Amino acid sequence: MLEDNYKQRGLRKKLVKILEKKGITDPRVLQAIGKVPRHVFFDNALLEHAYQDKAFPIGEGQTISQPYTVAFQTEKLEVKPGDKVLEIGTGSGYQACILLELGARVYTIEYNKKLYDTARTFLPRIGYKPYFYFGDGSKGLPAKAPFDKILVTAGAPVVPESLTKQLAENGILVIPVGARDKQRMVRIRKKNGRLTKEAFDYFSFVPLLGESGWTR
Ligand code: SAM
Repeated sequence: MLEDNYKQRGLRKKLVKILEKKGITDPRVLQAIGKVPRHVFFDNALLEHAYQDKAFPIGEGQTISQPYTVAFQTEKLEVKPGDKVLEIGTGSGYQACILLELGARVYTIEYNKKLYDTARTFLPRIGYKPYFYFGDGSKGLPAKAPFDKILVTAGAPVVPESLTKQLAENGILVIPVGARDKQRMVRIRKKNGRLTKEAFDYFSFVPLLGESGWTR
């Protein structure tokens, strides 16, 4: 299952082309998508789904995000090599791998113990080593703040104040905000201590749980 053969590399190239057609332009983001093997996050029987541009269940009622969504959020995050990035919602760990490919130092936090345990064991096996945390990421990770970039990969009812507080000067927060089943992608920048907000397309994420998220 961990092999990466010419067929899988070919399917990944096709996926990159699809994402380009859908409007992803950052060459570094496209290169990262072209590099990280997505099929290793799937069971053998489900391999045909790995390079389709769709979200997929990973158990525990959660999903590995659609490649387009991963690319869109990553592009909006403007990751530079050496950036200290907090990802909220480790899930499968795929997004964390993309951030690592961009040269970021990645702190990723997951609220579901089983998913946290799986990702923490699996990612290093395929060569990716973010810092793993288990807990409520809606509160951020105050012990390790500030962060140059914060990426929330679950849908939030509001922008948690704890996250904007943990953003470094010139930092960027990307977060889907809105209803439980449909959210608008929002980007917040901190400049001279002030926050500016931009809103983009609508997406459909699983809910962000926890103190500043949804109650179950
Ligand atoms: N980034 C993931 C990936 O690459 O596979 C996809 C994330 S999935 C769409 C959303 C994840 O957020 C789920 O794994 C869920 O358990 C997690 N989550 C929900 N609320 C959370 C919270 N308060 N803190 C941390 N993780 C949370």
